[in-house]
Amino acid sequence: MREPFRLDGLHALVTGGASGIGEATSRELVRAGAFVWIADINLTAAKALASSLGNAQAVSMDVTSAQSIEEAALQLPQLDILVNNAGIGHVGGIATTQAEDFDRLLNVNVRSVFLVTQRLLPLLLASPAKGSIVNIGSVAGMIGIRQRFAYCTTKGAVLAMTRQLAVEYPKELRVNAICPGTVETPFVEGYLDKYHAHEKEKIREELRARQPMGRLGQPEEVASMVRYLSSREASFISGSLFTIDGGWTAA
Ligand code: NAD
Repeated sequence: MREPFRLDGLHALVTGGASGIGEATSRELVRAGAFVWIADINLTAAKALASSLGNAQAVSMDVTSAQSIEEAALQLPQLDILVNNAGIGHVGGIATTQAEDFDRLLNVNVRSVFLVTQRLLPLLLASPAKGSIVNIGSVAGMIGIRQRFAYCTTKGAVLAMTRQLAVEYPKELRVNAICPGTVETPFVEGYLDKYHAHEKEKIREELRARQPMGRLGQPEEVASMVRYLSSREASFISGSLFTIDGGWTAA
């Protein structure tokens, strides 16, 4: 019997694929048999990961730059799976969010999904496997989170783009989004270092406590869902949003 959730022969590209959720996703897709393009602004980390994985290649990509995306795209012979994962955070309510920070978040988290998806669309549409896009959103796109004005804004937009693309290309593509709660990655460690250097353990405990399961998610738990959504087993799923948040948004 055929092993489920296999991606043999498919080519995937993971933006921000060198760290955290992107890194776990690159690993999982290679494990599933796919060839993975690890597209990251941090080329050194992407190269190190690619050489440890084998069936993968690092490609330099700044998702905010159309030129950088173009240069990366020219290297791809085919593409069946796109994971729009690169993203950054920001802490602040509306009163303390600077316009430059708001623009930066929109550029990295939202405009990037537009630019990367638009450039890679012809390859995805040409995929004999039917192209799959998985956008990494966040629970922040579904519920309000205090002190995350810009971040919630951008993740809401990612979910809206997911639904719009699914409606625009219902027969040609599948487009889904995953909405993680707080996941143990360098993203969260960076936040703790920057904003709570003297009370990291206290804040870490608060982050755990707001998720009913009482712990942070693991990047591999998100990566498994990316693999599933990219597989033939998920062939009737498009325009859907999947929370992976230890029960946070059920409350
Ligand atoms: P991370 O910081 O560990 O990794 C992000 C990666 O993106 C890094 O490799 C970084 O070099 C890359 N990157 C940053 N800017 C880039 C750019 N302009 N162009 C190309 N690559 C760029 O972060 P993570 O926690 O793995 O987060 C990945 C995604 O998951 C983000 O979209 C984030 O918003 C989302 N997310 C994270 C959490 C969490 O708790 N960690 C929760 C929900 C959603």
